[in-house]
Amino acid sequence: MGKTFMPVQKTREELAAFQLERLKWTVHHTYHGSPLYHKKFEEANVTPDKIRTLDDLRLLPFTTADDLKAGYPFPLLSVPLDDVVRIHASSGTTGKRKVLSYTAKDIDDWAHFFARCFEMAGMSVADRVQICVGYGLWTAGAGFQNGVERFGAMAIPMGPGNLDMQCDFLVDFGTTVLCCTASMGLLMAEEVEKRGIKEKIKLKKVIFGSERSSDAMRARIGELLGVEHIFDIPGMTELYGPGTGLDCVHHQGIHYWADYYIVEFLDPETLQPVPEGQIGEMVVTTLQKEAAPLVRYRTRDLTRAIPGTCACGSILPRHDRFLGRSDDMFIIRAVNVYPGQIDHVLSSIPGIGSEYQVHLTRRADGKDYMAIKVERGKECAPADDPKRKKLIEVEVKKQIMVSCEADICCYGELPRSERKTKRVFDKRDE
Ligand code: ZN
Repeated sequence: MGKTFMPVQKTREELAAFQLERLKWTVHHTYHGSPLYHKKFEEANVTPDKIRTLDDLRLLPFTTADDLKAGYPFPLLSVPLDDVVRIHASSGTTGKRKVLSYTAKDIDDWAHFFARCFEMAGMSVADRVQICVGYGLWTAGAGFQNGVERFGAMAIPMGPGNLDMQCDFLVDFGTTVLCCTASMGLLMAEEVEKRGIKEKIKLKKVIFGSERSSDAMRARIGELLGVEHIFDIPGMTELYGPGTGLDCVHHQGIHYWADYYIVEFLDPETLQPVPEGQIGEMVVTTLQKEAAPLVRYRTRDLTRAIPGTCACGSILPRHDRFLGRSDDMFIIRAVNVYPGQIDHVLSSIPGIGSEYQVHLTRRADGKDYMAIKVERGKECAPADDPKRKKLIEVEVKKQIMVSCEADICCYGELPRSERKTKRVFDKRDE
């Protein structure tokens, strides 16, 4: 047994006791260290001494993306600037980017729990990890890089794009683990197939970051690359970056690092807890973060807690894959639809590919219409398209409660991208 990055706590009770101790620290630290938090706490009429149990978390005010904007360029800062050793920013397109500060301990903590991801994935120091995510201002490249090095495996820092070189390196370096977005993973898998190099590569695991991926897409990538496991790594800039959890080899939900942050699952409208196991917005409170701690930060990510204990026996709690963001949710004919629900329905239908687009339009009758364009599976007969179309329309209606018109197109017809693929096109205001 080599070095472990798992929590030192051995039971859920020990973990909860540790969380309470760290929650008290976070409240004390932010109350005294950040004028913004100090003001918010005063307004909510809460002082650090009022936090006596974990349930007292609910006394605390929420933090949102607006607080990050308002505090630009050093939002939520709770330490003197001299203690900040690095910043990262999100690649936001509108308004100001989200910028977050890190102390040396924050960077160290991040590397530590990122290494835990690789331990959870059953990797060893002999693994060679091709990192095909963006390096630079955003958190992805730096996060994976630090994590691999801390874990002790070999990092191959490629960045995204350049499929030619990616494929050469897969073969030449005997890469065993690929880290990329799901969109990039699909491009790589199709390129490996095109070149006929599946037998020459040694890939065993793929770790997807920063993008939802449907079961169909995962199955296709797994088949083309011949890998044993595909893992999901969550991550957002506000919460260090990627590496804040991972599904274990049983793939029954994402274990998240409850010794570093607390998750609440709340109804995005009422901000009250949803019943256990139901979909809610993830709201996080950090327990160890120094430079830019989060107190009840509304992530806008929708998912649900997975009750019970995982087959792996870990005490670390689990959440489901992300169903999308409460911001990405669209409303059609008074029904709330999350893109993840459409992924889910399409994944259950045989003979279609993983790529799809949703088009929302408003017709002359004043009503809204939803069309779903989806690729036929690669080796599937076009003659069965009418059957597939019917099945999609029936299943969407049944599972999402909205009518749609399905349209099957040829495999490879829809655009792929190396970053996030745009899937929802809302043309109702045009
Ligand atoms: Zn597990």
